[in-house]
Amino acid sequence: MNILAFGPNGSGKGTQGAIVKEKYGMDHIESGAIFREHIKGGTELGMKAKAFIESGDLVPDEITIPMVLETLAKSKDKGWLLDGFPRSLAQAEALDKALDESGMGLDYVLEIELDREIAKERIMGRRLCANDNNHPNHIAFDAIKPVEKDGELVCRVCGGELSARADDQDEEAINKRHDIYYDDKTGTMAAVNYFKNKGTAKVIAVDGSKAINAISEEIMSQLG
Ligand code: AMP
Repeated sequence: MNILAFGPNGSGKGTQGAIVKEKYGMDHIESGAIFREHIKGGTELGMKAKAFIESGDLVPDEITIPMVLETLAKSKDKGWLLDGFPRSLAQAEALDKALDESGMGLDYVLEIELDREIAKERIMGRRLCANDNNHPNHIAFDAIKPVEKDGELVCRVCGGELSARADDQDEEAINKRHDIYYDDKTGTMAAVNYFKNKGTAKVIAVDGSKAINAISEEIMSQLG
């Protein structure tokens, strides 16, 4: 099963992606997380991407597109949920072409809809687990609240160290990321509409303002 997951930063897309991955055993591919791994590992790609990410700008397509397509190809047999890509119409077209050429199909387009202001409030409270990117933690949601250990907040799943992403604490970077997301001319909403209009994958649209388990139940009920 192959799924494209869309939703503004802060909509809970990563949280839902982790739940779907767990249930269906597919790979959860997050373009932003791949970049962060590269930055952590000090790779050349990471060094090239760092400044773009910190300011909330898109990493150029010549770096991003091959990186994501190579990762996708490795998950061909297992199936994937792709999160964070495509973020523009140009990336949508490149992905569509690559899927055609590789014989990989697209089964679902998941869209988590959320008002921009609510999404912005949510971004600042999320925390990243040092051990596993698929361990969602958020200081404002009981269902995924970090736990306290020796006076520190740690990951609720594994007790790992938590951090806040620099681009999640920077209002200008958040605004830039949301400008890109809600842009329906060439930005991410244009990519969403591209795949919706193509009409080959089933569209699952959910209300991102609902509780985490209500959203995941709705998604599961619509996934075959
Ligand atoms: P995310 O974790 O999805 O919020 O992504 C963090 C950052 O990584 C973004 O703000 C971009 O700088 C970069 N990034 C992630 N995905 C893409 C993409 N598809 N195209 C370009 N840049 C991306």
